[in-house]
Amino acid sequence: MTDMGGAEQRSTAQAVATRLWNSRWLLAAGIVAVLTVYGFADMSLYVVLLVCAGLLLAAAMLPAGVARHSAEDAAAIEAGGLQQLSGEYLAAAVADPLIIFDRTATIVHANAAALAAFGGIAPGMSLSLKFRAPEMQALLDSILSGAAASDVVDYTEKLPVERAYRVSASSVGHDTDLYVLVFKDQSEARRIDRMRADFIANASHELRTPLASISGFIETLRGPARNDPAAREQFLQIMHNQTGRMARLIDDLLSLSRLEMKPYLKPGTEVDLRQTLDSVIDSLGPLARENSVAIERDFAKGPLNVPGDRDELFQVFENLLENACKYGQSGGRVVVTIAHSDDGPEPGIDVTIRDFGPGIPEEHIPRITERFYRVDVENSRTQKGTGLGLSIVKHILTRHNARLSIKSEVGNGAAFTVYLPAH
Ligand code: ADP
Repeated sequence: MTDMGGAEQRSTAQAVATRLWNSRWLLAAGIVAVLTVYGFADMSLYVVLLVCAGLLLAAAMLPAGVARHSAEDAAAIEAGGLQQLSGEYLAAAVADPLIIFDRTATIVHANAAALAAFGGIAPGMSLSLKFRAPEMQALLDSILSGAAASDVVDYTEKLPVERAYRVSASSVGHDTDLYVLVFKDQSEARRIDRMRADFIANASHELRTPLASISGFIETLRGPARNDPAAREQFLQIMHNQTGRMARLIDDLLSLSRLEMKPYLKPGTEVDLRQTLDSVIDSLGPLARENSVAIERDFAKGPLNVPGDRDELFQVFENLLENACKYGQSGGRVVVTIAHSDDGPEPGIDVTIRDFGPGIPEEHIPRITERFYRVDVENSRTQKGTGLGLSIVKHILTRHNARLSIKSEVGNGAAFTVYLPAH
């Protein structure tokens, strides 16, 4: 404690001295001015001394930012700070796994992140034995042989779970004879890259299929069906359907990307669920009639408001109700329920859309909200599905801090429940 107090006093004295030194010209000018006034005016020596002492005090207390640091001051501050810094503390402050090793590739120190990531490493252990992968051996060789002052490789750790790292190795300094390895975890970035590539492949495939069909019919219309009016009518109708399919897909893709572009929900707007669901039911009336499905309402009494974006919630219920009318058509009816929910951690409102169709086999339920995932691809296509409806639903609900739960019994329909927090 005493040592710390002494060091603090020393550093305060140093800071005061630095400030005085930095303001030396200003001070000198001030003192000369006071002495000149003393020479010409009728001022007592006592007052002059008092004014000079005041000037010195003001210079010593001048804020650090006001004082102009010279390059030497900066160097002195840097050297002083670095002297107190231990390699161990520096390694601990690095969030990525970091290993310090010596010329014989023996571990000298591993920070907490490295100990957590690579079980069983300890000072004294050989790095070459721990990391046997050829790319890691090559990295160690190139650094220890002096062929490069620093080098980078991609390395995948297989166990206990697969993790992809970008590993950089560099020499710590000429005199130390020590080297450092830093592991940057790339697993999440790789996963996102893979998802993006899959998404583009799926979207391209979905667009390519109708495009191939349209281009095939154009060829037929120019060739064998050139003079066949009946075939022409039929082919034009198919082409019209296929362009509709492409347009729906593009609309859904744009919806998804718009949702991704605006990650935060505008706060402060209330949505009246009763009114929103009434409008959704009205807008899907024609589809329900076409599919001979009766839509029943079971709405709780009183106000049914939640914070949220009305257009986005409209899209959620529209997608769910449309699916219920299309895929649950054979049940002949769909029930839309709005109920207060007091079971969860906070009060909210549950909206359930229940159909009585074939239901969804259990194994598909966990994946059903993934982009382009369908239980039956052909059925989805004939129902004008894009495979993106439920992923749009999931996206919007995440933004609303809401939850989707799906219950289904094969042969007995499906129930999609949206829980929306009331505040
Ligand atoms: P789609 O555009 O194909 O309808 P969705 O993301 O909305 O895409 O739905 C994904 C899949 O989930 C559908 O293709 C369908 O197989 C299945 N599905 C959705 N809702 C129901 C439901 N109510 N009953 C049975 N299957 C459903």
